[in-house]
Amino acid sequence: MHLASVGISKFCFLFSLAFCGLLLLLIPALQPPTRQVDQPQPRPHTQPARLGSPQRVRGVFREMDSTTGTTPGGKGGQLSSFRSRDPLDFKDIFIAVKTTRKYHKSRLELLIQTWVSQAKEQTYIFTDGEDSELQRRTGVNLINTNCSAAHTRQALCCKMSVEYDKFIESQKKWFCHVDDDNYVILPSLRGLLSSYHHSQDVYLGRPSLDHPIEAAERVKSDGSVSVKFWFATGGAGFCISRGLALKMSPWASLGNFISTAEKIRLPDDCTIGYIIEALLEVTLTHTHLFHSHLENLQKLPTDTVLEQVTLSFGGFENRRNVVSIVGGFSLADDPTRFKTVHCLLYPDTNWCPKPKHSHIN
Ligand code: UDP
Ligand code: MN
Repeated sequence: MHLASVGISKFCFLFSLAFCGLLLLLIPALQPPTRQVDQPQPRPHTQPARLGSPQRVRGVFREMDSTTGTTPGGKGGQLSSFRSRDPLDFKDIFIAVKTTRKYHKSRLELLIQTWVSQAKEQTYIFTDGEDSELQRRTGVNLINTNCSAAHTRQALCCKMSVEYDKFIESQKKWFCHVDDDNYVILPSLRGLLSSYHHSQDVYLGRPSLDHPIEAAERVKSDGSVSVKFWFATGGAGFCISRGLALKMSPWASLGNFISTAEKIRLPDDCTIGYIIEALLEVTLTHTHLFHSHLENLQKLPTDTVLEQVTLSFGGFENRRNVVSIVGGFSLADDPTRFKTVHCLLYPDTNWCPKPKHSHIN
């Protein structure tokens, strides 16, 4: 009897030992599987590099979209969701031309004779002096801003402030700003803007620097910290969607633009970049289709000139900095090349030279 009970306890002891061993072996297998979503994910291919990072600077020249001539802006590949299929109506574009009284004859008349004549309804010329004769003769929208005629930061910001307010008032979908030494190739402009939607945050233009500008932050803080941002150079022209322009209102409307520019002590085009990139955190979409005379315009391949969105001429003591294009006018008759470009785009214009060897009887 005694021996039998010892045998049973031995058996129970060995059995529980085996059971515990089996449990130990089973523990890893019984654990719940690790959830896949907690694993670090690779960055999506469309994610643009952070503002001001070296990748972004190199990307300006590497990641151009061949149809729009742009690099993606916005966050997380937002560009593809901008794409709109409807062609934009010309009347939805507001084109602001900045000029000054002394350039009405030497610069503005050429623009009115050429591209402005094709877009009279949507072009608004912002100047600093009366010229009722010009307005009567040409029928353009000439706005006297009453800003100073000086080439100072304050005077130029005063004009930009009026441009902004007039655009908001106009109800148009796109705000584009150019200088009076820019030719706007209207079909290209419409094509470019048609690839975005005006209700999205779109800021399109060409930076004049290959790095973001740095300024003391005096709007959100006391100026002890600095802020880095990209801006589109005003001399090449830039465009802003209505959706984004409305968001700029606290810092841009009704004279606020002038006080914002005063706070950061930068010119008008930099102030636009500051409001959009630094305050609203919307990225500039870099485009190589806009041109100022800060670049060597002769380097632009002749067969691509008519595909650009803006052109320019000259520059400081460099009258020969013009696009190389061959057409009806010699360099002496058309030193800016704007008439030649215009006649290639609109050959039926009454002052354009007719082809010499016409086969029509
Ligand atoms: N401008 C102006 N007031 C002036 C001088 C120039 O509004 O006293 C305008 C001019 O009409 C042009 C822009 O500022 O639209 C740039 O002027 P400019 O091409 O002479 O100089 P840039 O800065 O391009 O060298
Ligand atoms: Mn200029």
